[in-house]
Amino acid sequence: MKQLSMHVTDLCNEKCGFCVVGSPLAKSDSVQYNELINFLIANADEGFDSLNLHGGEPTILPRLMELLETASVFGYPEVQIQTNGRRLKDRGFVDKLKERGVRLFVISLHGADSHVQDCLTQTPGGFAETIEGIRNAKAAGIQVRVNTVITRMNMGQLGNICRLCVELGVDHINISNLHPVGSGYFALDMQAPTVRETRTHLLPVLDELVGQGHKITLEGFPLCVVAPYQRLAIEDGTRFIRMMYQGAVYDNYDEFMDDQTREYGAPCDGCALRSECGGVYLEYAERRGWDEFAAAKQDLLEPAVPNNLP
Ligand code: SF4
Repeated sequence: MKQLSMHVTDLCNEKCGFCVVGSPLAKSDSVQYNELINFLIANADEGFDSLNLHGGEPTILPRLMELLETASVFGYPEVQIQTNGRRLKDRGFVDKLKERGVRLFVISLHGADSHVQDCLTQTPGGFAETIEGIRNAKAAGIQVRVNTVITRMNMGQLGNICRLCVELGVDHINISNLHPVGSGYFALDMQAPTVRETRTHLLPVLDELVGQGHKITLEGFPLCVVAPYQRLAIEDGTRFIRMMYQGAVYDNYDEFMDDQTREYGAPCDGCALRSECGGVYLEYAERRGWDEFAAAKQDLLEPAVPNNLP
């Protein structure tokens, strides 16, 4: 999979306390529309399978339709949009996006009910709009991948979030580790689950879902934290993502994340998963240290869970 990825706005209509971009702190947009167009043009003939738009919240971009029309002119075969899904409550808006090449929504869903979701996103009424947005996307025939960031507030209802996704006909569930940068840096102490908390809540959900054939992936986790489900890691080396973020171009997003945002510690020496694992987020290791991590042993990894990626 070869994807061109663009951060199209710093601004958002939600205020997640763990936002990696720090959108709740943004008062104005640093993204220039002409930079987006230039990036599209510069990469038009390089064989990208898809174009991924993210923010901030791409659906509040005033010139979104124009941007999609330009992408179509330059031959990008399909577009995916990462969104909180609130604006998708408008079915007419969804249809316009479909007409302009949108084939997948990656929708943030961080709670199984309005109490948890609206608290985490600091958006009263947001949960209901997101759910309506997911229904509209599915009704329009657009694929939906849900992304859930695991936090202390939602970890106890992770199973219910996933069951809700199944009920809504979501095509793919991605569960992400909290990356403590942007607003997330301030969420680390209270909202980032420990290794033990993550395993306690995540593994039973995977035990339930993976066996039922649902498409489920994991993002940003040290592999020892999710073993024996390390094969569900979305960073499996088969994808190539060139990303533009606030004017800078990252030619290989996964390599950048491994090299610049994560690190290895003493427990990683001799770990059976070292060659596949990107390590631990720098800020997490800095704040909580390495005591809760342990090198994965080969015999703990069996039976291997098959790769579940699309
Ligand atoms: S390399 Fe380090 S962080 Fe990664 S799985 Fe092994 S012990 Fe965990």
